[in-house]
Amino acid sequence: MNRFPTFRALAGAVTILAGVSATSEAVTSGIPAQITDETAGVPDFLAEKLPDAPPEPTFPDVFPVSLKICPVMHVFNRPKTDEDLVMVNYAPVVSAGENVKLATAPVAEGCLSSGFGMRRTRLHEGVDYFNQTAVDIYAAGNGVIKEMTYRNDFGNMIVIDHGDGVFTRYAHLERFSGLKEGAAVEAGDVIGLMGNTSSRKIARHLHFEVLTGEWGDEAGSFALTPLDVFDLPAADTEG
Ligand SMILES: [Zn+2]
Repeated sequence: MNRFPTFRALAGAVTILAGVSATSEAVTSGIPAQITDETAGVPDFLAEKLPDAPPEPTFPDVFPVSLKICPVMHVFNRPKTDEDLVMVNYAPVVSAGENVKLATAPVAEGCLSSGFGMRRTRLHEGVDYFNQTAVDIYAAGNGVIKEMTYRNDFGNMIVIDHGDGVFTRYAHLERFSGLKEGAAVEAGDVIGLMGNTSSRKIARHLHFEVLTGEWGDEAGSFALTPLDVFDLPAADTEG
């Protein structure tokens, strides 16, 4: 493998740094064909400005690494726990599609107050994380804020589009962070605070859904299919 692709990239960088509108072909034409060192042929003052290779991206470590069932409460659809109510086989980061990694609990701190599934007569389409204080709510994965609105049922609600037909919903937020619909977010970005907004009187908690499918022309996020985040396979947190 020769060095040509690297060199082309370098030439492009030089073009940008020099503020020259010439094409990379034009730039390469004046440079010797045999390049053995990546910075060969680049003046020192430019070589110093060339960025180092970026570090391997890692999933941010702001999310809880373990999860407890809320004590005292009756928790529907509770997953398996040890005697201290700590969930066994808890995966802090899961795969929801080939290129989508999501935090299982996108909260600064909280306990599980409801699992996914039938709750009395209705399907609970997400999981609930409870806290007594208005802790930060994070974007569970990289994506774009698709919807940010108030609804009587979900209160202050955000839906993030993660691509690959994967979405996440965050409901009952006390308030939103300064982000707007259409804003790009990365996993771990603060999108709001845990709250209890709804037309009904409810305890403070985050209602969190992982959704998949195609956004509805009319129904929007309600055309999507909810998934149980605890059923999704664990993802490694590197890269
Ligand atoms: Zn809920």
